[in-house]
Amino acid sequence: MSSQAEQALPVAEKVGILGGGQLGLMLGLAGIPLGLRFVFLDPAADACARAAGELLQAGFSDVDAARTLASRVDVATFDFENVPESTARAVQESRPFYPAANALGASQDRAVESALLTSLGINVPRYHEVSSRTDLLAGLEQLGYPAVLKTRRMGYDGKGQAILRDPEDREIAWQKLGDTNLVLEEFIAFDAECSLIAVRALNGEIRTWPLTRNVHSNGILQLSLPGVFDESVQLKAASLMRTLLEYLDYTGVLTMEFFLLGNELLVNEIAPRVHNSGHWTIDGATCSQFENHLRAITGLPLGETGMIIPSLMFNWIGELPDRKRVLEIPGVHWHDYGKSPRPGRKIGHATLTAESREVLQERANQLAQIAGGEFPALLGQLFD
Ligand code: AMP
Repeated sequence: MSSQAEQALPVAEKVGILGGGQLGLMLGLAGIPLGLRFVFLDPAADACARAAGELLQAGFSDVDAARTLASRVDVATFDFENVPESTARAVQESRPFYPAANALGASQDRAVESALLTSLGINVPRYHEVSSRTDLLAGLEQLGYPAVLKTRRMGYDGKGQAILRDPEDREIAWQKLGDTNLVLEEFIAFDAECSLIAVRALNGEIRTWPLTRNVHSNGILQLSLPGVFDESVQLKAASLMRTLLEYLDYTGVLTMEFFLLGNELLVNEIAPRVHNSGHWTIDGATCSQFENHLRAITGLPLGETGMIIPSLMFNWIGELPDRKRVLEIPGVHWHDYGKSPRPGRKIGHATLTAESREVLQERANQLAQIAGGEFPALLGQLFD
């Protein structure tokens, strides 16, 4: 884009967000100091992002409500990629909408996403499309055991998945998931899981944060530790990211989740949005993923994406640990989303920072003891 065209871009004042969850909340909190104001569309009257702006309470398939949202803002985005494409297109009719609806389409269906990535030369686990028991048998013949059966749509945080370790698991998995279109994936015995978050501006400029190592339990992210991979892995991931962002002519933040197997990076999935594994950037990077997403979609210059201090994020799932005890640890940043506790629900996180990796590890051990549950064991995996 010419510099003249860039100058002509209006700086937006009001941002509409489809979705009012914690990602919307953190976008709002990052945008208010930039001078932005927010309207969120969400079906829940108690959507937690309402703390950072106005809430338009409506269902995600309510196209009229989406048009109302558009009429009240200068630019729009989303915090939830399962918004129907028709809703996104209704907003896009009258307002700039980023990332564009094509990116939503590419990420809502696992088979479509995997086919797109493969066509771009980006490796994914081998997979087989499944819509009948016969397909499942054929897929297992091709991929062998263990394999992972996943719903093509609406899967997240390990929901809509079953691992098939031997033939006895086949019927149980089919009973659980067989009423919808599926993919069967080879099971990857990865060395580590990691994610790369990048932002692309309207003028095509791309910036990436350090690759982050992630530890999951039961399909849900628990810990994220940035900046621990070799430069060669970071560069390889960044090159795959660039290929995808440029193909989609993307604007805003995009996340790629990888399985690292030896030196090979396989993409597990992409998310066309800010991501849980990038929450550490609020406290540990010069410019957070939330702020840079807003800078990108409003035509403001991008901020620096470097890590300014060793950081580690703990996710609070289902319940919060004792706030007072956690806050006694130096270098801790507490983020409570204001959501009611429920098993399996993401209700907050904490980012630990420290002047060195050694001190970070000591503080992490302290925090893991306070948080309890699986954290001490999971931390062992991270620092192994
Ligand atoms: P997903 O919801 O697809 O991101 O999966 C959640 C988690 O399940 C991943 O982060 C992995 O820990 C695990 N997982 C998913 N697919 C596979 C696979 N094909 N092989 C091994 N582990 C997997």
